[in-house]
Amino acid sequence: MRSLFRRLRDGLARTRAQLTDRMQEILYGRSLTQDVLDELEELLIAADVGVEATGRILHEIEDDPKRTSGDAAWAVGKVRAIMREILTRQPSDLVIADVPPTVMLVVGVNGTGKTTTIGKLAARFSAEGRDVLIGAADTFRAAADEQLEVWAERAKAQIVRHGRGADAASVAWDAVGAARSRRVDAVLIDTAGRLHTRSNLMEELRKIKRVIAKHDPSYPHETLLVLDATTGQNALAQARQFNDAIGITGIALTKLDSSAKGGIVIAIAEELGIPVKLVGVGETIDDLQDFDPDAFLDALFGLPAQ
Ligand code: GDP
Ligand code: GDP
Ligand code: MG
Repeated sequence: MRSLFRRLRDGLARTRAQLTDRMQEILYGRSLTQDVLDELEELLIAADVGVEATGRILHEIEDDPKRTSGDAAWAVGKVRAIMREILTRQPSDLVIADVPPTVMLVVGVNGTGKTTTIGKLAARFSAEGRDVLIGAADTFRAAADEQLEVWAERAKAQIVRHGRGADAASVAWDAVGAARSRRVDAVLIDTAGRLHTRSNLMEELRKIKRVIAKHDPSYPHETLLVLDATTGQNALAQARQFNDAIGITGIALTKLDSSAKGGIVIAIAEELGIPVKLVGVGETIDDLQDFDPDAFLDALFGLPAQ
């Protein structure tokens, strides 16, 4: 089995090739001229680091007194340090409730990886010895229940489902109720893919949230937004709209392995003020990780696997 770090490092191969390997080529053995800074800026923008974080990185490099000292290679460490500062502003740990069940609502647009992320998370909780229940509140998409059943079975999780066309809030109500009476440790609520521009669908999510909170006002402990790293800057727009509509407590960023634009992690942290809590680095059950800023930067800047 590959170690956690190796999975992360392998998952970030494309981003590393496009972002950090290129950055080293640009900076090593050259002096920090305006041309070199322009190339660095272009590179960061292309890797989806975002306008704000890129601006901050460039300013801090320009203002650094070491700037005059010849070789620009030192700036690689500088970029890394600024990225670390951005990524560690907010705690990235998932909230686990003191009194079970921990209730997590999982939202996001179609195809971002909500169901897969729930499956992976359920498997992890089960492996840690926690009882998990999944609520199948994606009652919109045909075959959504079947897909979730497969994941629930793999993850050894219980499932509450009503079938296609059922009221999503009603499924959520029942799932949380069942989790409480069966004394499970965690309940994960899957929802239908939401086009963030469709306000009636946002209304349905609000209703789900409201109904869950009728069981206990502390529910849900987490409202996780699943974002697909390959969609780039559009992910930021999605995050803003979901956050405005229902309030997001953390982000699960999927498909980092299929993107050269893992820089989006930094853009999200800089521009949204919502912590990335989970990252998906592949399609199998082991490919979901807690977001760890230092491990992420080690993997991105090419620290060898341990
Ligand atoms: P949903 O519509 O948001 O529920 O999305 P699904 O969970 O059905 O996932 C859509 C597709 O994305 C599936 O083919 C998943 O296997 C794939 N997927 C999800 N997470 C990841 C990931 O971290 N890496 C890769 N490569 N694929 C992923
Ligand atoms: P609606 O406007 O009638 O759909 O009701 P709500 O928005 O309050 O809740 C949506 C669904 O959640 C309902 O249809 C029920 O299935 C369930 N639900 C919400 N609150 C309760 C409650 O207090 N008791 C029970 N048994 N079910 C509830
Ligand atoms: Mg789904």
